[in-house]
Amino acid sequence: MKPDGSSLIGFGSGGPGGASFKAFDPAMDIFIEPSFPTVDASDVERAVQLAVAAAPAWAKLAGAQRGKFLRCIAENLESKIDDLVARAGQETGLPAARLQGEVARTAGQLRLYAEAAERGDWLDARIETAQPERTPLPKPDHRSMLRAIGPVVVFGSSNFPFAYSVAGGDTASAFAAGCPVIVKAHPAHPGTSEMVGRLILHAVRDCGLPEGTFSLLFDAGFEVGQTLVQHPAIRAVGFTGSLRGGRALTDLAAARPEPIPVYAEMGSVNPVFITAGALAERAAALVDGLHASATVGVGQFCTNPGLVVLERSSAAENFVARLTEKLRTTPEATLLTVGMHKAFVGNTERRARQPGVKMLVQAPMSAACGAAPVWFETEAKHFLGNHALSEEIFGPSSLVVWCENRAEMFAVAQRLEGSLTATLHAAAGERTAQRDLLDVLAERAGRVILNGFPTGLEVSHAIVHGGPYPSTSDGGRSTSVGTRALHRWARLICYQNFADELLPPELQNTNPLGLRRLVNGEWSSGRI
Ligand code: NAP
Repeated sequence: MKPDGSSLIGFGSGGPGGASFKAFDPAMDIFIEPSFPTVDASDVERAVQLAVAAAPAWAKLAGAQRGKFLRCIAENLESKIDDLVARAGQETGLPAARLQGEVARTAGQLRLYAEAAERGDWLDARIETAQPERTPLPKPDHRSMLRAIGPVVVFGSSNFPFAYSVAGGDTASAFAAGCPVIVKAHPAHPGTSEMVGRLILHAVRDCGLPEGTFSLLFDAGFEVGQTLVQHPAIRAVGFTGSLRGGRALTDLAAARPEPIPVYAEMGSVNPVFITAGALAERAAALVDGLHASATVGVGQFCTNPGLVVLERSSAAENFVARLTEKLRTTPEATLLTVGMHKAFVGNTERRARQPGVKMLVQAPMSAACGAAPVWFETEAKHFLGNHALSEEIFGPSSLVVWCENRAEMFAVAQRLEGSLTATLHAAAGERTAQRDLLDVLAERAGRVILNGFPTGLEVSHAIVHGGPYPSTSDGGRSTSVGTRALHRWARLICYQNFADELLPPELQNTNPLGLRRLVNGEWSSGRI
């Protein structure tokens, strides 16, 4: 299986289009064939109109059929894992073992979303039966649930070529919720995107679904993405990437005559607070754990721990010295794109020039897109007075913030911007005393971690991968990972005084789908 450079518009291909681009191998420093032409406006319109035509059938598609489709995509990915990993390895510089794991994770996610679609609980069906005899006013019959929102646009991420890209969490959760999807391919891995897109389309055909279920569009610039976000038929957008990109798309969507939600997952510093008690209890394990979390994937994870907050003591200084030694000998590895490398170099140089900031370690780097740990330290008073120190540096760079006392640690926590995660390491005997700090961290993050590390996100029913702005554009009211992610692609609808046969099956008296529903205030899986 090889990419041929085509956008995939339903079952057809894009035309010759405009400016084209090629994938780039960041490890070998070479471009890779083939060329990917930008789709033209008529192709964008065709993809949207196909999605519009498919949307009504998709909204009514039974959960079991959505589940079958998602499972079919998972099988297709697994059947081509060697081809996918080979191409993604070239396009991203990521090692084969990581990519194999990511394909497995993507298939697992697809199956989890299949399960959610099949079970249907996420629809939150609620029924209040009528009381025509009630006085002074009769009570109407009200039945409500979530229903699919319509065509969705997904901007895949650069740092997960499978799990958050073409068949990744946004696409899979939108399908599970009943929405057709148009993906704007990330230019960092276009060949991988096309191959995965073709595997999705095989599943569309094999499951007998409408042609407009899925399209994949290539773009050498921003125009296609912006046109999609502004298209009146698009109902919602999923995005993973930079604060600048996410904010640009969110602002465009808000300025439409009819605004739509953009679920953008953007920057996050993921602070880690470590108490004196935790250091006394397990300093060596903390050195190993923090080092592993901060260097995995060359730091290119949205959950990378970018801020480490400590109260100054000889034990804390010793801890940082041991961590610094380990970071110094961490081998250089390839960043995903030339742009990320440029940003990493520029951002670390800028941080080094900030008042009160000292370089802790700068491990040797030589390869074109290579990066090794670059860590800094500063005092809390500088951190508190300089917003630039709160900004994420994407890649293997973190900032150690030294606090004079616990009150200063608390002040740092209060000053934090919204993050996907916040972590506290504390000794068993200290935990109750740290409750106020945990309360502040819970205000600032979507996932609060006790005595763990933020990377290695478990995809599950309970996980939350979202947080207050700027980590996500909607203030942390949603998650892009786990089965709660389906809610982003649905809206509420209430039917009043409907005849049973006109209701969707989810709300009918006989409960033909066997859903768990809230009926007159009581949970029930039976009929009415
Ligand atoms: P990006 O620049 O935000 O791009 C993400 C996607 O959005 C790409 O498809 C890009 O299109 C598109 N895009 C960006 N700005 C746009 C705009 N103004 N209008 C229309 N489309 C736009 O992210 P990236 O290229 O993946 O990485 C750059 C930086 O993003 C990284 O250095 C890192 O700081 C951050 N990042 C964060 C995460 C995270 O997990 N939150 C993940 C990856 C990256 P084109 O590329 O075609 O222009």
